[in-house]
Amino acid sequence: MKTDVQIAQEATMLPILEIAKTLGISEDDVELYGKYKGKLSLDLCKRLEEKEDGKLILVTAINPTSAGEGKTTTNVGLSMGLNKIGKKAITTLREPSLGPCFGVKGGAAGGGYAQVVPMDDINLHFTGDIHAITTANNLMAALIDNHLHQGNKLSIDPKRITWRRGLDMNDRALREITVALGPKGNGVTRVDGFDISVASEIMAILCLANGMDDLKERLSRMIIGYTYANEPVTAGELEATGALALLLRDAIKPNLVQTLENTPAIIHGGPFANIAHGCNSVMATKTALKLADYVVTEAGFGADLGAEKFFNIKCRYAGLNPSAVVIVATVRALKNHGGVPKAELSEVNMKALANGFENLEKQIENVKKFGVPAVVALNEFPTDTKEELDFVEERCKELGVNVVLSQVWAKGGEGGAMLAEKVVDLVEEEKGDFKPLYDLDMPIREKIETIAKEIYGADGVDFTSKASKEIEKYERIGLEKLPICMAKTQYSLSDDPKLLGRPKGFRITVSSVRASVGAGFLVVLTGNVMTMPGLPKVPAANKMDLLNNGEIIGLF
Ligand code: ADP
Ligand code: MG
Repeated sequence: MKTDVQIAQEATMLPILEIAKTLGISEDDVELYGKYKGKLSLDLCKRLEEKEDGKLILVTAINPTSAGEGKTTTNVGLSMGLNKIGKKAITTLREPSLGPCFGVKGGAAGGGYAQVVPMDDINLHFTGDIHAITTANNLMAALIDNHLHQGNKLSIDPKRITWRRGLDMNDRALREITVALGPKGNGVTRVDGFDISVASEIMAILCLANGMDDLKERLSRMIIGYTYANEPVTAGELEATGALALLLRDAIKPNLVQTLENTPAIIHGGPFANIAHGCNSVMATKTALKLADYVVTEAGFGADLGAEKFFNIKCRYAGLNPSAVVIVATVRALKNHGGVPKAELSEVNMKALANGFENLEKQIENVKKFGVPAVVALNEFPTDTKEELDFVEERCKELGVNVVLSQVWAKGGEGGAMLAEKVVDLVEEEKGDFKPLYDLDMPIREKIETIAKEIYGADGVDFTSKASKEIEKYERIGLEKLPICMAKTQYSLSDDPKLLGRPKGFRITVSSVRASVGAGFLVVLTGNVMTMPGLPKVPAANKMDLLNNGEIIGLF
């Protein structure tokens, strides 16, 4: 069997200007990054504003397991399938982070015959957006430490600085560090730490901004810490806004690439789905909606995290009106939810499959709460048996939910045509009525409780005294109307990663609440949420190589 990178390297790509032409974009509006990647001009994004929108399709999934579910693969394959049945489609995706690429996850450009290309470029540096975000993040850090050193006119309390440094790497050694050791000239010694770049507020801002003016406003609002009197200090007060915007002037432009079958793909922004909202940029989605009849987009992790935030944060802020949702599930992952360890997932186990199905059932219920029609995409793996696939299809039918077998990994667009037909049916026949789950006027605690009870199925929420104090502070400084960005383990509906399937009789513990005012949400931390991942015992990096002929090994 060919590896992903082999399939990708054999692809016949079209020059990106030709892809642009199929969308009616002139070459004046494409800034070339080599022959196969281009950035769309902000001018184009602006000019398109008058045009009518296409239909927006969200791809989400059951709670992820180490068995892999294939949201990105399904997203890419669905856009190719839509093309196959004669619809003009664009896939929009997040930019892969380098950190996970060298850890366990590998690339994030789809898989098998449903990939975006040039897959190696997309996974490695791409057009430099994440580097620009990292640099902006660290300029902010440098300006803060310099402010302390130069007399601290704003009275920033070094112990209350919330801004952290950033790096696009899985590096556990940097989670907690001490900066400015040594002589006085090195600055004010304080405890600091690194987050992975995609967890930074700047990434979330880039993804929610409407354009340059909005980006600047959001950057200026960011709270970087608090004074000795516990009053917020913003990036604007530190006169950082202009320089940060300058560093992001190219990163804000959406990137155009293509799928293995030359379907246009816009890949832009890549916020984490725990500490941030986990969707590609608003600029990318909005631009794509003007250029195609169908835009397929993805939200990170399971529907309890990604889809919830896609609806309650991204759609609410950007005024998007999604037309259909695809919920990806696999037989393997459902068996894993039913208690089968990873090593035994290739064996048939109907009892575990039935138990694990409950996770899918809950995620279907979750999606329905937002009023958008849904279809389950059963992503077929080579090890699946007919008996197992039939079982999942039967159970879905019993629940009254649409279900389609997706074979995009093995067959590309042709394997996604059935799914595409179903999606078109849903869009044309079942007019959805999208609405967010909670009202922004609700008190902070009530918003959190609504998500925990309705989406996770929790009995209630406990707040640590730290979290309670933080909530009181945000109410005092006028942040109570912001939407909630839950930071929770992706593996479980609960805040305990070990509770798979559909856990019942549990409560959620909120340990801390952070304010991402520039992004425009309150980050609610539950359990142990990692903002700087580590590498596993045998990192994917150990198996990678570049051969003399340019062939890449080990990038999946
Ligand atoms: P997600 O977006 O949900 O994290 P991806 O689409 O990135 O998932 O897929 C995760 C991994 O699983 C990739 O390496 C991909 O190649 C693999 N994969 C996805 N679908 C299939 C399938 N049907 N058969 C085999 N491998 C698959
Ligand atoms: Mg993905």
